[in-house]
Amino acid sequence: MKTLVYAGSFDPITLGHLNIIERASHLCDELVVLLSSSKNKNYQFTIEQRQNFLKESTESIKNVRVDSFGGLLADYMQKNSYTCLLRGLRGPKDWYLEETMFITNKALSGNLETLCLLASPKYRHISSSLVKELTPHLVDWKKFVPPCVEKCLK
Ligand code: ADP
Repeated sequence: MKTLVYAGSFDPITLGHLNIIERASHLCDELVVLLSSSKNKNYQFTIEQRQNFLKESTESIKNVRVDSFGGLLADYMQKNSYTCLLRGLRGPKDWYLEETMFITNKALSGNLETLCLLASPKYRHISSSLVKELTPHLVDWKKFVPPCVEKCLK
């Protein structure tokens, strides 16, 4: 069984993340959407909120499972015998970051591979940070986030 692991902060999940999840779900048997939380990062939404958003917005996709992890991603992968990470690329900035992460993960665990999907042009401008910056303003949330997040932001 081929499993892909899509890890991120998802603070909150956006339509860009969801587009990657939907497209990747056709490329594997199981897609684990992994909520990573670090003690050194400040999040706008709690881990429970972020997890509920992920579960609610992916519940219609049968082969998606939501999980969470607080440690090193390479350890999570090894513990579960997973070998393939999924990432989304919006442009050169993401590419540089992903390349560094790829090299680091390879150094930590030699059998880890990273599969990158290019962002859809419709969503490539969207990021969780953009959503947070827009939060105090009245914007058309439907263009940025799934309905469960929209409800919370409103
Ligand atoms: P992280 O803290 O790991 O950067 P994010 O939740 O910001 O977590 O992003 C998780 C993954 O989703 C990353 O690979 C990121 O490049 C990708 N991603 C974020 N926004 C988009 C988007 N609009 N389109 C495609 N991929 C995206």
